[in-house]
Amino acid sequence: MEFRDLRKQYQVLEKQMNSAMIQAVSDGHYIMGKQVLELEEILADYVGVKHCISCGNGTDALLLALMAWGVQKGDAVFVPDFTFFASAEVVAALGATPIFVDVDMSTYNLDPHKLEVAILETRKRTSLTPKAVVAVDLFGQPADYERIRKIVTQYGLLLLEDGAQGFGGRIDDRKACSFGDMATTSFFPAKPLGCYGDGGAIFTDHDEWAQILRSLRVHGKGTDKYDNIRIGMNSRLDTIQAAILLVKFEAFNQYELREVNRVAEQYRRLLPDTVIQPMVPEGYVSSWAQYTIQLGNKSERDALQAYLKEQEIPSMVYYPKPMHCQTAFQHIQDGMEYPVTDRLCSTVLSLPIHPYMSEEEIIRVSTAIQSFITR
Ligand SMILES: *Cc1c(COP(=O)(O)O)cnc(C)c1O
Repeated sequence: MEFRDLRKQYQVLEKQMNSAMIQAVSDGHYIMGKQVLELEEILADYVGVKHCISCGNGTDALLLALMAWGVQKGDAVFVPDFTFFASAEVVAALGATPIFVDVDMSTYNLDPHKLEVAILETRKRTSLTPKAVVAVDLFGQPADYERIRKIVTQYGLLLLEDGAQGFGGRIDDRKACSFGDMATTSFFPAKPLGCYGDGGAIFTDHDEWAQILRSLRVHGKGTDKYDNIRIGMNSRLDTIQAAILLVKFEAFNQYELREVNRVAEQYRRLLPDTVIQPMVPEGYVSSWAQYTIQLGNKSERDALQAYLKEQEIPSMVYYPKPMHCQTAFQHIQDGMEYPVTDRLCSTVLSLPIHPYMSEEEIIRVSTAIQSFITR
């Protein structure tokens, strides 16, 4: 059994995929070929925003967004304590200070109440300028944007949606990657919409930011590549990856998103009551980058993972370490506490999930967990 079966996906898409890749290579426009522009239009349309600016990976997407806003030393940017390192890394890379915020125990996403407390504490106790919030759509589920947007507006901050894991999610009729003033995603192979290498994109309705982003991704270009009007970087999506994504997006939109939700529903029915299952609030739809359960404590979680491994069932701990405990951030002494993230890092376990997972496989995982619990 595979944790995320990308080979199976390739087998299903093989014919179209091979011809799309060969076409891209034989066209000879390896950088910024027409597939890149076509993909950007299709994704912007799907998400429901004016602009999609593709780039080299999901980390660069976050970095470019913060660069476009001029985030710099002296700025505070609020980031969930429970996320992948990149969400906070980009803040520090620009010399700004990431302020970590604890998350909600049942959705795994930023806790809006704690966000407000962190903003007030930062204003009161530091000389930093609160500038932006990075809200992460963790494991495929959009954050609580209704409440987060209110707070961001009240305190005059910018909202960056890190939708690296969230592409395809929804709240009612509104799609993930449309909630932030800017939003980003990643096309890393294992993400909900992945390519065959690195890739990323930024989404926004804002014309001027979109223009700045298109400049920043090509060395801060002005009218052309050899007219450089700002310091940027080299971060573009390869034409061949765009060609791959055009094929994968069709499958994602036609059936993969529906199928991965079928797997999640089967888990929900089959897993024993004693494990805590991921909570999807009313009106929310997840794209299930991960299916993450919670056990009672660390030793139980570790024992379950070892038990599953014996049965050749892969599982992962996303994430074993809170941001505030990362060595790279040890200089940030904000004196705040993160009881929920501390607990989650000891109790979570992510199970195999992908659109091509069979009912037999889901039953095998669920039965193994059931027999572990009753052993
Ligand atoms: C994967 C991920 C990123 C970074 O994306 P890359 O394409 O790997 O650079 C950023 N944020 C989150 C939450 C992620 O899961």
